[in-house]
Amino acid sequence: MSTLTEKKTDLKGGEFLIKESNAADTYIKEQITEEQSMIAQSTSDFIANRVHPVIKEIDKQQPGLVIGLLHEIAELGLLGAAIPEEYGGMGVDFATDTFINIEMGKGHSFSAAYAAHTGIGTLPILYFGTEEQKKKYLPGLGDSSIKASYCLTEPGSGSDALGAKTKAVLSEDGKHYIINGQKMWITNAGFADLFTVFAKIDGEKFTGFIIDAKTEGISLGAEEDKLGIKGSSTRQVFFNNVKVPVENVLGEIGKGHKIAFNVLNIGRYKLGVLALGGAKETTTTAIKYANERIQFNVPISSFGAIKHKLAEMAIKTYATDAATFRTAGLIQDYIDAAVAKGVDKVQAKLQAAEEFSVECAILKVFGSEVLDYVVDEAVQVFGGTGFSEEYPVARAYRDSRINRIFEGTNEINRLLSVGMLVKKAMKGELDLFTPAMAVQKELMSVPDFSTPDADDVFGNERKALLNAKKAILMTAGAAVQKFMQNLEKEQEVMMDIADMLIELFVCESTLLKTEKLISIRGAEACALQIDITKTYISDSLERINLSGKHAIVSFNDGDMLRIMLMGIKRFTKLDPFNTVAARRRIADKLIEEGQYCF
Ligand SMILES: Cc1cc2nc3c(=O)[nH]c(=O)nc-3n(C[C@H](O)[C@H](O)[C@H](O)COP(=O)(O)OP(=O)(O)OC[C@H]3O[C@@H](n4cnc5c(N)ncnc54)[C@H](O)[C@@H]3O)c2cc1C
Repeated sequence: MSTLTEKKTDLKGGEFLIKESNAADTYIKEQITEEQSMIAQSTSDFIANRVHPVIKEIDKQQPGLVIGLLHEIAELGLLGAAIPEEYGGMGVDFATDTFINIEMGKGHSFSAAYAAHTGIGTLPILYFGTEEQKKKYLPGLGDSSIKASYCLTEPGSGSDALGAKTKAVLSEDGKHYIINGQKMWITNAGFADLFTVFAKIDGEKFTGFIIDAKTEGISLGAEEDKLGIKGSSTRQVFFNNVKVPVENVLGEIGKGHKIAFNVLNIGRYKLGVLALGGAKETTTTAIKYANERIQFNVPISSFGAIKHKLAEMAIKTYATDAATFRTAGLIQDYIDAAVAKGVDKVQAKLQAAEEFSVECAILKVFGSEVLDYVVDEAVQVFGGTGFSEEYPVARAYRDSRINRIFEGTNEINRLLSVGMLVKKAMKGELDLFTPAMAVQKELMSVPDFSTPDADDVFGNERKALLNAKKAILMTAGAAVQKFMQNLEKEQEVMMDIADMLIELFVCESTLLKTEKLISIRGAEACALQIDITKTYISDSLERINLSGKHAIVSFNDGDMLRIMLMGIKRFTKLDPFNTVAARRRIADKLIEEGQYCF
């Protein structure tokens, strides 16, 4: 990955809450190399020329269509982009894979098939397979001769994935496991050649298995009649006395949860990236329509209400972009450092995703909710035509919704992000305690009334974000003190803290990106990016304030409540910024360019 600076960040997972980051060490998409640009362009061309023209046929599940497209994309090398070269893939780095997935995110149901195959379909074998298993399967997964599905969910166990009932029993001769059970909602099941299946050996030891789809005893349910991504195959998979050779156990016996959870870390990052691609595409679609549609003798894009929508779509998309590439940089730096210490590249990637699991969960939640916001507003910009299948936004609206449900629902990811941070703190990996205590002391002291340097374009915002960290530490610290180990049962409080955390990470990423852009292009050339950043942070601090208040009021009273409410107010304060005027300026640029242009 290219860097505009040689310096690498040493920020660890979750440390964004307690440490300051600087723009120079922040990776941004504008650092794209020529090679990455070419790969992204060929992905974009493929989606525009091969997928979009047949999108209706894909949605009708025309037989062989998605399989044919997977073959085509394999020929471009994109199906095996993240597979190491020694197994026939391209072995691209994390950032390049991110650029590919942004473009892929514009492919609706095809993207779902692609993502399931290259993500949850391929990664378990790449990360946890034996050398023999990798040699046997990875080349085929990369050239599309093997299409893969991932079978974790069951009718009785979705979010509670470890509650699976599918059972594996060792045969008397010790050569096979006999698998019985039922999996549900399995993407690509209709055409998969290979299933990664999770089952409990003797009803206890949760374990992964690689199973050939043609094995006797496997049968499929009918295609699910879905709300969206209708072109993606989703079926139940039944296992009736399915004989699986013992050498097809994936990873360690009883350690299937390691596969499931680690693969999900990367899956969540990828889902956020795909959502970003969708948000960019749909924002452009809405801008174009708003420029063409005439009402009251003028294009609807000239109305302030529509400008507000277009600008807000772009602001949220820009913020997602900033958070995504910042995370890509953090993960890549971690991988590089681990490889330099002698860790195998593939294992380094796995470790990196685990290290930044909080950030990955944040990107999943934020990206999927931004996409839902964008597609919803796009339908509104289209008016009646937005409700028609003749126009593209109805499909975008339907297809977006699943992202808040799979790869762990957004509720589960919110709970996880806070839970993982608290766990890191308990294990001593992340010192949240010292800064949280410092904030408590600061609460009793005189506020800092100093004003930032007038020439510092983000002086106020930087100070505000430093304070926002204190607001979160204060709220989370008080919640931990109050509920101790029972905090996880106080889900409403956990959700509020998660929302604060998400907003902080996104705000800071947006600020860092724009600061870095300013350092490259100068402030004048970045006037609109400054508008975007100030608008996002201004609104975000209100949201952090509200979430903080909800949480604090729920478990404090008397003097403590009064002090903490004053603290939240103090730590989420920001000078007023004219967001109406800023959004107008942002929208005017979008309207002039006729596309998302940041
Ligand atoms: C189109 C589609 C494709 C899919 N593809 C695959 C696939 O390829 N492979 C695979 O294995 N699975 C797949 N899934 C399954 C998907 O991962 C699950 O649907 C998801 O994990 C949620 O599980 P569930 O549907 O059982 O919902 P539930 O777990 O029943 O959740 C229902 C609601 O309760 C909430 N909830 C649940 N537990 C808690 C809790 N502890 N605290 C607070 N709230 C909670 C959830 O957030 C949600 O809002 C797919 C699903 C769909 C719809």
